[in-house]
Amino acid sequence: MSAPRVPDLPEKTGGPPERTRTDPCHSCHICDEVCPVTPVNADFQGPKSQGPQEWRLRDGDVSVDHSIAACTNCLQCHAACPADVDLMALHTEARAEHVEERGWSLHALRDRLLANYGLLARLGSRVPRLANWAMDNRWLRSLAESVLGITAEREAPEFANETFREWWADRGGPQVESETKRVAYFHGDHANYHQPAVGKSLVRVYEHLGYEVRVPEQRCSGAPMVANGHLEDAERVTRKNVESFDPYIEAGYDVIATCTSCSLTLRETNPREFDLDGVDRLAANTYDAVEYLRMQDELADLELDSAALPDALSYHAPCHARDQGVDGAALPALRAAGVEVAHLGDDCSGMSGTYGWKEERYEDSMAIGEDLFAAAEAVEAEASLTECPTCGMQLEHGTDEEAVHPIEVLSAGLDGQ
Ligand code: SF4
Ligand code: SF4
Repeated sequence: MSAPRVPDLPEKTGGPPERTRTDPCHSCHICDEVCPVTPVNADFQGPKSQGPQEWRLRDGDVSVDHSIAACTNCLQCHAACPADVDLMALHTEARAEHVEERGWSLHALRDRLLANYGLLARLGSRVPRLANWAMDNRWLRSLAESVLGITAEREAPEFANETFREWWADRGGPQVESETKRVAYFHGDHANYHQPAVGKSLVRVYEHLGYEVRVPEQRCSGAPMVANGHLEDAERVTRKNVESFDPYIEAGYDVIATCTSCSLTLRETNPREFDLDGVDRLAANTYDAVEYLRMQDELADLELDSAALPDALSYHAPCHARDQGVDGAALPALRAAGVEVAHLGDDCSGMSGTYGWKEERYEDSMAIGEDLFAAAEAVEAEASLTECPTCGMQLEHGTDEEAVHPIEVLSAGLDGQ
């Protein structure tokens, strides 16, 4: 039943590259230097201390340092370590241990709710107007802050009147069929409930290039669960996603995602943490959606219409995109079409998924984002591009910029074709 693979796509080996745990750490402190939390939070021990240093002492009696809760899971330390210490796994497991040890509290309940945001979003999307009203109501936001510790400072993302999946079902699924160009779209919760325009743009671009797009049943990638130390929840959704996507992979579909935190979790974190049949296969066949087209030299085939594109944009590279080396994949094509794109540098936005929603993290989150906000405000741009929806939220919160996903701009450039 297997169809031919998409031509010219580099083979991947299955699962994340092997990393070592603690032994090779040579105390260079590079991980501490790149950590965005260390400069803004004096209580945070830092990645070396929370990682190899602490794990070397761990013999069953030494408990986890609870400042691990201040780690944003940006994974800059993991990407920068020259000795390939598996800081991702050490911190992920330390956060899970912290959750187990701290017991019950309202903040613990809040973190579990944020980790499982997809369930709340599913309910909210059934009554979008009511949900939007509630999430915008000043009194309810203050109540959520004082009871649960969800900051009232932020604007909640709006629920779309029609989810991406509802739109997809109404349209009757794919309008292009192909034996050789086949992708299964992992839209994640944000594109489904809050930004269906991202998913619609993906379908438009991929179908324009002759791809057959399928949208399998899916759950959250597990990213917010991993970041909040709820590994049992992350394993549950991972099992569901593996079961759902595996038949598509078997039939020759590659998996593409528009959120770089989702793709990183599917490709790197889940196969490290969960011993599930098929989890390596899903990891090995998952790609960032724009990077996938760049890898196959197909972005130039879009023949973008300059008249339909903005004149000037800025671009923020999310940590999780840089961690995978997939950041900015759309930029050469947009520049070739005459769009001026200013790169805003490699600063973390400070949002890190659910992190910036916690009342006790809000100030740190904004302090981490300061350099990015200043860079964005220093350039003349009609909008800021970024591949991460929560980085986009933070950019819109910390500046006057509108944030858009690169696939939306690529799709806009097809207008008239
Ligand atoms: S960057 Fe790697 S080798 Fe250097 S201190 Fe951190 S964990 Fe150790
Ligand atoms: S994941 Fe990010 S916040 Fe956490 S220790 Fe590493 S660099 Fe610091």
